[in-house]
Amino acid sequence: MSIMKFAPEALKNLFKPPVTTKYPFVPFEYPERARGHIDIEIDQCIGCGMCVRACPSSALSVNKNEGTWTINRFDCIVCGYCVEKCPKKCLSAVPGYQEPEGEKGEATYQKSPEVLAEEKRKREEAAKKAAELKAQKANEQLANEGNKAK
Ligand code: SF4
Ligand code: SF4
Repeated sequence: MSIMKFAPEALKNLFKPPVTTKYPFVPFEYPERARGHIDIEIDQCIGCGMCVRACPSSALSVNKNEGTWTINRFDCIVCGYCVEKCPKKCLSAVPGYQEPEGEKGEATYQKSPEVLAEEKRKREEAAKKAAELKAQKANEQLANEGNKAK
């Protein structure tokens, strides 16, 4: 095969930009709708467990009392069901992939101590109000029964 057959193509390519990218020196730009991995804004999470129930690969777990959300990234298929179901919209499918890991493991996210303390304060306040309301109703009932007996 004559070299002259390739010459026009070779000459054309001399003046074209390269088809390869300069990764990792130039960061890769993911397509707009790429599903790389699931991310969470943990302080917004209310621990409702909707994401856990929606997950088809049982990759998630939530501990409401401890304020933690855990994902097994080796089980996650990035289907996005958890993102759709989350009522607080604190989950998102982020374009970038995770760093490679040597061992199978789970990633656990925990709420900040300030948010945990505030939630605890609100729970205690609600419990106190409920107890007061219950006591008030019991007193009213006793008073009504006393009036009937007279
Ligand atoms: S993206 Fe799909 S597989 Fe991954 S945690 Fe969410 S529901 Fe589960
Ligand atoms: S669905 Fe959203 S708010 Fe509910 S536990 Fe999952 S991440 Fe938290």
